[in-house]
This record gives sequence, structure tokens and C-alpha cells, in this order.
Amino acid sequence: MSEPELLLYRSNLLGSDLRVTNFGGGNTSAKVKMRDHLSGEDVDVLWVKGSGGDLGSIKLDGFSTLYMDKLQALKKRYRGLAHEDEMVDYLPHCTFNLNPRAASIDTPLHAYIPKAHVDHMHPDAIIAIAACADSRRLTEVIFGGQLGWLPWQRPGYDLGLKLEALATSQPKLKGIILEGHGLFTWGDTAKSCYEITLEMIRLAEQWLAENIKQPVFGGVKTLTLPPEQRAALAARLMPALRGRISAGERKLGDFNDSAAVLEFVASNDLAKLAALGTSCPDHFLRTKIRPLVLDFDPAQPDVDKLLAGLDRQLSDYRADYTAYYERCKRANSPAVRDANPVIYLIPGVGMLSFAKDKATARIAGEFYINAINVMRGANGVDTYVGLPEQEAFDIEYWLLEEAKLQRMPKPKSLAGRVALVTGGAGGIGQAVARQLLQEGACVMLTDIDAGALEEAKQALIKVGGKDCVASVQGDITSEAQVEALLSATSLRFGGLDILVSNAGIASAAPLEDTTLEIWNRNQNILVTGYFLVSRGAFRLMKQQKIGGSMVFVASKNGLVASAGASAYCTAKAAEIHLARCIALEGAAIGVRVNVVNPDAVIRGSRIWDGKWKEERAASNKIEADNIEEFYRQRSMLKLSVLPEDIAEAVYFMASDKSGKSTGNVLNVDAGNAAAFTR
Ligand SMILES: [Zn+2]
Repeated sequence: MSEPELLLYRSNLLGSDLRVTNFGGGNTSAKVKMRDHLSGEDVDVLWVKGSGGDLGSIKLDGFSTLYMDKLQALKKRYRGLAHEDEMVDYLPHCTFNLNPRAASIDTPLHAYIPKAHVDHMHPDAIIAIAACADSRRLTEVIFGGQLGWLPWQRPGYDLGLKLEALATSQPKLKGIILEGHGLFTWGDTAKSCYEITLEMIRLAEQWLAENIKQPVFGGVKTLTLPPEQRAALAARLMPALRGRISAGERKLGDFNDSAAVLEFVASNDLAKLAALGTSCPDHFLRTKIRPLVLDFDPAQPDVDKLLAGLDRQLSDYRADYTAYYERCKRANSPAVRDANPVIYLIPGVGMLSFAKDKATARIAGEFYINAINVMRGANGVDTYVGLPEQEAFDIEYWLLEEAKLQRMPKPKSLAGRVALVTGGAGGIGQAVARQLLQEGACVMLTDIDAGALEEAKQALIKVGGKDCVASVQGDITSEAQVEALLSATSLRFGGLDILVSNAGIASAAPLEDTTLEIWNRNQNILVTGYFLVSRGAFRLMKQQKIGGSMVFVASKNGLVASAGASAYCTAKAAEIHLARCIALEGAAIGVRVNVVNPDAVIRGSRIWDGKWKEERAASNKIEADNIEEFYRQRSMLKLSVLPEDIAEAVYFMASDKSGKSTGNVLNVDAGNAAAFTR
């Protein structure tokens, strides 16, 4: 491997282990001799992880490359600590090889350490030591002079110079612990650097394991509820919480009841430690400086009381946050941001996290677990200290962080929305789910066919990613299964904004041959099923209090009677009427209900696969293979209707683009005069 390849290899190894560094946290570098394109001579180039990205999955293009001689020359430009932020603007001028990857604000921390290879990691075990009141002495005790120590300082140009000074004055050091932050290590080769990083983390882990006082977190205070009860409580709580914190922008939720979380939320020290706030800057940028501990006693689990207390607890938290902003703000600070908590701790139950998208919510939860691990270690061997409030504020509202936020792309039209699609394994269901995902929504799919559902889910994960796609197999005609489906949606994403009721069947038979079984089957799936799912969604949306949109995928046959299909046509008519009735009741709570009427969507359809195709062909006196052409010629526009066409109409009705439409029917049938609405 070349030196850059070795750097990449080591970075991926380090970044893939959460004990070594958290998601997106830490950076690595190598100083490499490379041929300069201008002079043709060998020059020293710093390869360092660029701005953004995660070490575990970084590729070579994730590193920025800078001329070392230009970085050294920058020292002459440095005007002192009060001006260190201006140094960031010089970094692009040091770029080697026109590399478009922006250099991160940690670049000076790597550039000036006089070693070829440098790792900067955020290992929980090291931060635990770095966040102890007595961290300097403990560093000496544990590492016996192998690691130096620097007091807390915001990462930036000045800290880069301090690292250089310490590493130069004490050439025996293998690295440095930064108080309240993390670890720097270095080596002459990629391999030795990697090994030193692991060795230092191992020493810290081992020392903590031998020295942590038992019981941790001051011992157990409350019981921990069994798993089903924890999940049920979280599923009830999440939509109520989500509605209350989504006024500015809609948030998505994540529930975590891993062992590390449960140990903390059942402990005596929960309230005391949570109030101290997190330590490593990476942690609180993701989790806010402190979480909200909800008033809940698992010994007397009263969910109604918990829900009744939410408004007061949230308004107290927001008032505290606003007061923190007012206390700490500087003349040029960015405006106050969303004052709601990100992390919610529930004694005996677990942790909820909410953010503008699902991955961010999940990762925020993982970061708080890092913070729990740090507090567990630090408090077990000494006294845990969070970051001083003003320091935390200066990082949270750092103008350079604000600039990063401003560079983020504009959110998609359905960002922060949760959609439930029934009949999700079918052609129309999948096309709808695909479009909603592409527009930024998270999607819960359901279908009665478990195999087809799994296939659809895997295909959709390729479109929307693992975080945003979930599925639950179920039968929409079962009241219990529908309730379970809605609970699972709340638990997975935090609530519900969009219901696409699409599960369907079709049947054809002359009236006198229509058995009671055929009749009931149509009624059960197309009427009762739609009723059950929409009633459940309605209750959930009402609890959330942020409105919602329901779209029924009905049929032209709900408007136009068709000979030889009375059971199907009647059920489809009832479905459309049900949508109109719900539209009436939904208006008061901001829930819109609209109908999309497809006609003859044959491609990808599971309904048209079997008997229905034969039946329609027979009743129209044509060959089954000619049916697509037959319907095309029958339409006014002489066009086939495809699943994507239905998906486009469903998306319109689901999104704010149709925000002033409810009780409507939108035909997507290539033109059928008999279906004109009036
Ligand atoms: Zn760091």
C-alpha cells in the first residue's frame, strides 16, 4: 500500500470500533512526500481527514491535502488566541493538488505535531479519565509518563501550537490527553501509530475496570420494566412528545433501551449526573448540553400522569435553555436555536432521542451512550466534571459551526415526515414508498405477504437507507394487528404524518355467482381494513396535534359501476365515501383526506397477476396477453397508467403541495369520461 492507502486502511479500522471513536468523531493524518505538479520536486504534504464524514467509512477523497511548508508559513500570520478563527480562512490557500475536500478546523492539531502519523480519537475510556476532576494526576498514574496532558481548550489553531510545544519539549511522549475532550497519539509509521492508539485505549480500559467503585452510579434506585412494557410505554409517549417539539420543524424519534442506558436510568445518580451535562464537545453538539429526565416512577407506572406532566417539563427545559443562551451569548453569536431537548431519559424504561431526521436522532442517542460511559468511568474512579457552561456555549454557537449549518442543503419536501403504506409489497405500494423516500420521508411498509414484504423492504433500503425504511407484516382486517402496526410505527419513527391506504384485492363475478365469501372478502379488506387503519392513524394524529394527510388508493370502479364486479365496485365506492367522512372529521385537527383513483395499472400489480386478469379478459372478450393494449386503447389519452403515475399523485396529496385540498378525488386513469367527478 502507498502511504495514503495505509492512512485510509488505519482510519477505517479505527473508525469502525465505537470503543475507539464515536460516529463522525476523531481524525487521522499522515505527512507524505509527494511530487509537486508545479515544481516537479518532492514536497511534504499533510493528508488529514477533511471536514465532515466518518472515519469508519471514509474513502481517499474524504481527506484534504495541504502543503506542509505553507502550513508552517502560516505561523507568521497568527495574531493570537483572540484571532484564531481567522486562521481557518487561510487553510484553502494551502491546498495541494487542487483537492476540493475542505480542510477541517482540526487541521492545525495534526500539522504541527513533529511526527509523520497522528491519530486523534474520542475513546469513551480515555474521555472518562479526561473528564475527571483529577485528570492530570490520573494520566500520570495510568500511563506512567507515556502520555502528556493539556488543560481543556477549544480545538483550534492555538491548541495546535500547544500540542507542538509539548511534543517537541518532551520527545519521549507517545501522545497527549486533552482534558474534557480526548486522545492524541503519534508514531513514525502508520502501523506504530495505530498500535499506540490501541495500546493507550487498552491501558485506560483496563485501569478503569480494576478501579471503578461498585456499585456504579450510586447503586440502583428504581426497578427496570420488562421489555414489552418499555416498548409499549415508549410507543405511547413518542407521538405525544413529537407533537410538542415539532412546532419549528418536524422531528423524528429513536428509542434505545440497551443495557448501558437501562443501568443509568435506573440509578441513584441519574438526576445529579444528567444535570452536569456532557463533556467531550462532540457529545454535546449532538445531544445538547444536557438531557431531560422525565418524571416517571416505574414502580407505579402511570402513563397518563407522565403525559399530563409533559407540557410543564418541556416548558421548564426550554426556559432553562433560553436562559443559558442569554447568559452566555456574545455580541456576534448566531440567533438562539431550537430550545427543545434532544435526549429524554425515562427511569426504568430507556432513552428517547429526537432530531430533524432519523439517522441524526439515532446517532444522537448513540452519542449520549458515549456520554453515559464517560460518566460511569469518571464517577467510578473520581469526580466527573462536565464542560464549563461558557465553553460549551462557545462551541455550540461557534461561528464556524454556524457556517457549517448554513452550508447544509435545503431539506427535502417530506423531510421529518413519517409515512405508513399498506399493501407495501405491491407495484403501486412500492412505487409510492419509493417516491416518498426520495422526497425525504421515512416509510413504514406493511403487507400480508411476508416474503414479498421483505423483498420490497430490501429494494427500498437501497433508495432511502436503512434508517428510513421499516416493515411490519400484518393483516389490516385484524383490529389487534392494526393497533400493533401503529404502535410499531410510533416506536420506530416517533409518530405518523402520512397514511397511504393502498392494500387491495379485486374480484369479478356476475351477481348471481357472487358468493357471500367473495362479498365479505371485498368488504373486509377494502372497507373494514381501510376503516381500521384510518381510525388508528386518526387517533395517532390527533394525539400528535400536528395534522396529517391520508391518501386512499381507491379505483375508478368506486365511481363507475361495472357489470360483473358488484362486490368489488361496491366496496370501492364505500372506501371513497369513508374517505370523505373522515375528511369532515379530520379538518378540525388539520388532517386532510384525499382519494387517488387509478385505473388499469397492470404493470407490477399483484392483483392483476392472477385470476382477476383472466376474469377481466373474459368479460371483455379478449386474450389475457392483450389486456394492457386493450385498456390503453379504451382510455381517452390512449396511454397506459403505470405505478409511478399513481405514486406521483399520492405524493401530491400527501405533501404540503396540496395543503389546501381535502375530500378530493384525483383520477389517474389516462382519461375516462364516465369517471369525471361532479
Ligand atoms: Zn476531538
